[in-house]
Amino acid sequence: MSQPIQSHEECCKISTTLCPCPVCGNMGRRVTPRTLDNHVPSPLRESIGDDATFCTNPDCKVVYCNPKKMVVLRGETKFPVTIKDSGDDVYVCYCFQHKRRDLRRDLKEKGTTDIPDRIRKCVKEGMCDCERKNPQGACCLGNMTNAIKSIQEGR
Ligand SMILES: [Zn+2]
Repeated sequence: MSQPIQSHEECCKISTTLCPCPVCGNMGRRVTPRTLDNHVPSPLRESIGDDATFCTNPDCKVVYCNPKKMVVLRGETKFPVTIKDSGDDVYVCYCFQHKRRDLRRDLKEKGTTDIPDRIRKCVKEGMCDCERKNPQGACCLGNMTNAIKSIQEGR
């Protein structure tokens, strides 16, 4: 019997049996070929293969690595990666295309932002596609919270 999906975070949970990042040792988060297909350009896509891990350390330049210690670095993916790039022109939510700039603008103009609530609403309607669209292969709401906090703290 299959379990009903409880929440968005639940539906995006991906198994975490992985290889450590060869540069920083972070255990990262396993990603699927769907994620890699959308974020890694050829011929890097072929070299990294289907068994790859996303390095979740924001200070490390490795985005993806595999057990053969092949790596895809920051700047080599098709889109800038939220946690690896603190620029304003970087998506925090890839499914609904909210950039760090949008969060900053809301916070500056209104002191708050309804973007996370808007995302949650779309998620409830089943409109998200994080596995494919987010380079981490998972829900963006954690990144969203961190990005808002960073902006509020003036970083
Ligand atoms: Zn790393």
